Parts: sequence; structure tokens; C-alpha cells
Amino acid sequence: MGLKHQAPRGTRDLLPAEIGRWQWAEARAREVLDRYGYAEIRTPLFEDFELFARTSGESSDVVTKEMYRFKDLGDRDLALRPEGTASVCRAYLQHSLSQQARIHRLWYMGPMFRYGRPQKGRYRQFWQVGAEIIGTAAPGADVEMIALFVDLFDAWGFKDLTVAINSLGTPETRGQYAERLRAWLAPAHDRLSADSRQRLESNPLRVLDTKDPDELGLFAEGGLGPMPRMIEVLDAESRAHFDAVLAGLTALGIAHEIDHGLVRGLDYYTRTAFEVHDRSLGAQSALGGGGRYDGLIEALGGPSTPGVGFSIGLDRVLLMAEERGFAPVPAATGIYIVAMEATRLAVPMLARALRQVYTVEYDLEGRAVNAQMKAADKSGARAVMLLGEEEWQRGEVVLKDLRAGTQQTVPLDGIVDALDTLLLGEGQGTEIP
Ligand code: AMP
Repeated sequence: MGLKHQAPRGTRDLLPAEIGRWQWAEARAREVLDRYGYAEIRTPLFEDFELFARTSGESSDVVTKEMYRFKDLGDRDLALRPEGTASVCRAYLQHSLSQQARIHRLWYMGPMFRYGRPQKGRYRQFWQVGAEIIGTAAPGADVEMIALFVDLFDAWGFKDLTVAINSLGTPETRGQYAERLRAWLAPAHDRLSADSRQRLESNPLRVLDTKDPDELGLFAEGGLGPMPRMIEVLDAESRAHFDAVLAGLTALGIAHEIDHGLVRGLDYYTRTAFEVHDRSLGAQSALGGGGRYDGLIEALGGPSTPGVGFSIGLDRVLLMAEERGFAPVPAATGIYIVAMEATRLAVPMLARALRQVYTVEYDLEGRAVNAQMKAADKSGARAVMLLGEEEWQRGEVVLKDLRAGTQQTVPLDGIVDALDTLLLGEGQGTEIP
């Protein structure tokens, strides 16, 4: 019989067997973000469609093809969020955060939604962790962003990443660059995909964003001559900004490489753009990316306010971390209480007290000791606490270390010390409140 319901295409259930790795990755990210002094912000999973249309760009794939757009019962035009920055900037404006502090350092983590073609590393619901600095145009902010970006990857075990970086200049320099790109691509017009030809009209920078292998080959083969470079048309201020960012990265020892083909084809992106890729992920190789968006808040109707940020795809990070063995297998730390018929009634209370500190499981069905022992093994617990009838009457329990295969009899008032020694190692005592 076929199942009536499956998770929608492009979405996944994260089951208990893998959730430990996710929690590990999320916890490492929070630690790093905390140490950088960033504050968490949580925004709704859906917003006015118009917010994303404006910020992601009307002609972007995200808006034209990938948006989960819907009308609610009140006929509002809404969309599931495809990314986080637009919502953060909307919240920044809506709550006048600029009046509380000049500069805000913010982070978010959560699911995003894009109706793309599902494949390895690409889902319709996926998770991002991202950060933003809003309120300063200083190149030091770009450098801090990239340092944070790299340190997050570092905390997950990626030690050898190179950041690809480019400068997109201002909207004016991008206009000039677009003309150069059009001229460069003109002789190859017939070999471009329909999508790219259309982009050549609406937003030529986006042609460089193509994932089409034939087109990528065409750009790389050299037949068109060298690809025009954004940095050739940069205005003096953007050039100075870019140089300052590069110098800042060098001073921090952060490996980086200028990638002249790195464009974020959105009008609101300015100056710095950066990404990291891992080619072993295949076609969906971007682990994360970011950049400066000095025009975005103004485009939302706010005062001109500079910002810089990034987002990282957690699904891809987890895929890589798992393949490379970065994510630790969670250590067994729990206790399984095994009771006899005569001691069964004591278990819930003992478990509840111990659960103030330890991870505790027990059998709910009054099964035989053998069955309980099997369940203890299967549960992944580190220790079994056996409530034998005679020991219990003497105020003692038997503690079995399932890893070492040893056991000892412990008086009830010595349980905490014994468990701490067994579970945490010597000298890390815990007090039951
Ligand atoms: P973007 O906002 O497109 O720059 O995406 C930032 C990061 O999110 C990318 O580098 C990916 O790691 C991740 N990402 C974007 N789209 C998807 C998707 N459909 N599935 C999984 N991860 C994604």
C-alpha cells in the first residue's frame, strides 16, 4: 500500500539519528557568534512578497522562478522567505533600531524556502545561518564579517578554505561594467541560453551567475578574449575600499583570492562580494556568501544606511562535515534505570530527581530485567543503574559502566559522585539542586 503522505518534494525530515550533528553545528555557530558580540534576531518565516521582490531583484531567479508565493485568507500577497537579509533590514527599519545604536551586529538562523530543482545540496526548504552589520560603511566592517564567516567554518572543522572576493563598485560602475560585458558577449550571442539572452537585456551581470556548463565553458575557453573585470572600472573610492578590505584580510592571515567573475547581480549590492565554495559538493558548491548592500535599506524606504552581511547554507555544511568526519558522533552520557518487580515503583521518582542533572531513561512497561537490559544497550546509555531488591532495601544501587563492562555497588547518598566520576571523569562534580 502506498503511503498517503510524504514530505513535500525538496524538503526533508531531520530524524533523531542525524539531529545530533545539526545541534552540534548550530551550537558551534552560536558560540562563535556570541564571542563576536552579535545579537540574534528572529523574523517571521513569511513576509510581504513585495519585500523580497524589491530586495532580491525583480529579475532574479529567486523572485521569478523560486518564490513560494501565496495569498492568505485575507488576500494578502505573501511569500515564504527565500533568504534572511531582507527581513532583517525590514525589522531594523520597522523598529527604528538605528535610534538605539549607531551600529548593529545581528545574526539569524533558520529555514529558508526556494522552489528550485532539488538535488544534492539543494533543497526547497534549507537552513541558513547569517550575520549582518548595519550602520557603517567602514571597510573594517567587511573585514570583520569575513573573519566571522571564516571562523564559523573553522569551528565546524573546515580549516583550508579560501575566500573568493570581488568588488562590485557602485551602481554607476556596475552600469559601465554591464556595457563592457554586453560588448564582450555580443559575438557569442547565438550560443547563449534563452535565459542568458534575456538577462543580457535586463541585467547583464547575472549572465556570469549562470550554472549552465556550456556557457561556463564558453566564458572560460578564451575565444571571447579576456573577460572584462569589474575592478578595471571601479571608482576611486570603491577601489580604496577594496584595497583596505584586502589589506585587512591579509593582516588577519585570512586566505583570499580575487574572483573577477564573482558578481551578485542585484542593484543593491555594492562594493565587497565574497563566497566560499567546496568543489567536492558538485554543482551546488557554494557553502556561503555575502557582501555589502549599501543601497538596500534605502530601497526599502529607509534613510541611506550601509550594511554588510553573509549567509551560510547549513545543509551543505552538514553534508561536507559528515563526509569529512568533522561532526562528532555524540558521546553516550545517559543512564538507564533497570528495576525488579519489587523496586519498579521507585523508578519514576528516582528518575525524575536524577533528570534534573542527567539524561535518564527507563522502561515504561514493567518488562523483565532481560528486556530492560537489552533496551539499555540499545538506548546508547553509558551506564545502567540496577535497582536490585536487596540492595535497594540496604539503600544501595548497582551501577554498571556499559563501556568498561565494570560494576560497583553504590549507596544512594553517593550516587551523584559515582555518576559524575563515571560520566564526566574525576573532579567535575555536579550538585543535584
Ligand atoms: P545565497 O543567499 O543564494 O547566497 O545562499 C547562501 C547559501 O545558502 C549558499 O551558499 C548555499 O550554501 C545555501 N543555499 C542557497 N540555496 C540553497 C538551497 N536551495 N538548498 C540548500 N542550500 C542553499
